[in-house]
Amino acid sequence: MRQNNENFSPLTRPEFDTLTGSLSRLLSTTNRPVIIPSEAILGIEAIAAGVSAPGRTILNIVTGPYGAIFGKWLARGGAEVVTISTSFDEVVIADEVAAAVDRYHPCALAFVQAEAVTGGSNPASSILQIARQSNIITIMDSVSAIGAEPVLMDKWGIDFVAIGAQKALSGPNGISAVGVSERGWTFLAANGKAPRDSILSLLDLNPHHRVAREQVPANIPILEARALIKTLERVEQEGLEAINQRHELASSAAIAGIEALGLEPWQRNKKWYSPLVTTVRIPQGSNLNIERPEGIVAPGDGELRDKLLRINHFGANANQESVEEATITLAKLAHRDPHDALLAERSVWENEDGE
Ligand SMILES: *Cc1c(COP(=O)(O)O)cnc(C)c1O
Repeated sequence: MRQNNENFSPLTRPEFDTLTGSLSRLLSTTNRPVIIPSEAILGIEAIAAGVSAPGRTILNIVTGPYGAIFGKWLARGGAEVVTISTSFDEVVIADEVAAAVDRYHPCALAFVQAEAVTGGSNPASSILQIARQSNIITIMDSVSAIGAEPVLMDKWGIDFVAIGAQKALSGPNGISAVGVSERGWTFLAANGKAPRDSILSLLDLNPHHRVAREQVPANIPILEARALIKTLERVEQEGLEAINQRHELASSAAIAGIEALGLEPWQRNKKWYSPLVTTVRIPQGSNLNIERPEGIVAPGDGELRDKLLRINHFGANANQESVEEATITLAKLAHRDPHDALLAERSVWENEDGE
């Protein structure tokens, strides 16, 4: 049988350059990001494995489940892990980070920029400024931030940042990227414990070495790579800022809606709501909860299951129609008429249109 194998041909050099070039623009960096041949969590584990070593003190900021897992991976590598945690309905306060830096003198600090699971976004630029002042290596999980809020690698001085396309960018989930600064590469190379000849080895994937040898890495999944190239073309057409704004607006509308329904956001501080996901507090003793997702309304993950509902207004769902449907679902669960909530939301969308 003859088959057209066009789509399965190896990734070409121009395709590889297109991909790394658009990932650099996405992260606002002049560095070439590492392409991770799998979902984003692999890149995150690879960062932990690469930076951790006995004798290194690393500050880990835990504001949700992903930050907690990262701390375990750091500990596995032998680093002394110092932890700041919040209850998952609050993000970290920059002053607390500054105090921990003064007290423990870590060589690196790590945090999750936005936790999709809790609906909170940490004060990234303030944390990174504190780290820069003390010359500390910075590690950020920005999987749930990229596309929903700014991730400015060079300007903010981020040394390691993991991203994926499947949240705000509505792209494929089988390929992802890690941005590494020059300082980051030096930090990895100085670690005798950093993995080599391993799926967790960022050093093995260093694209600068490949570039020198004019090679396209053979481990990049070609279907996913081509899907990601298409996704990033679409992102550049719409514009990253426009995509961020669409998420901001979806978030503001969702908040206006749930407040008009007499419900409360799960996150305590308005200033730090994630533009990606809005979380709704389940009042004690209420039966607001659901067993399985209804449209973009989903139950909380893991330990948050009975505490909150998520409104996943991200990617293609960062729009008025999806948020309105979610609001109608929540109104039904809360036994309320959605009318006023929908009006409150419409004024959010209309004010934006009028600007
Ligand atoms: C979704 C998410 C991940 C995991 O991404 P996968 O591509 O599913 O591995 C990691 N960190 C955060 C903060 C996320 O929201």
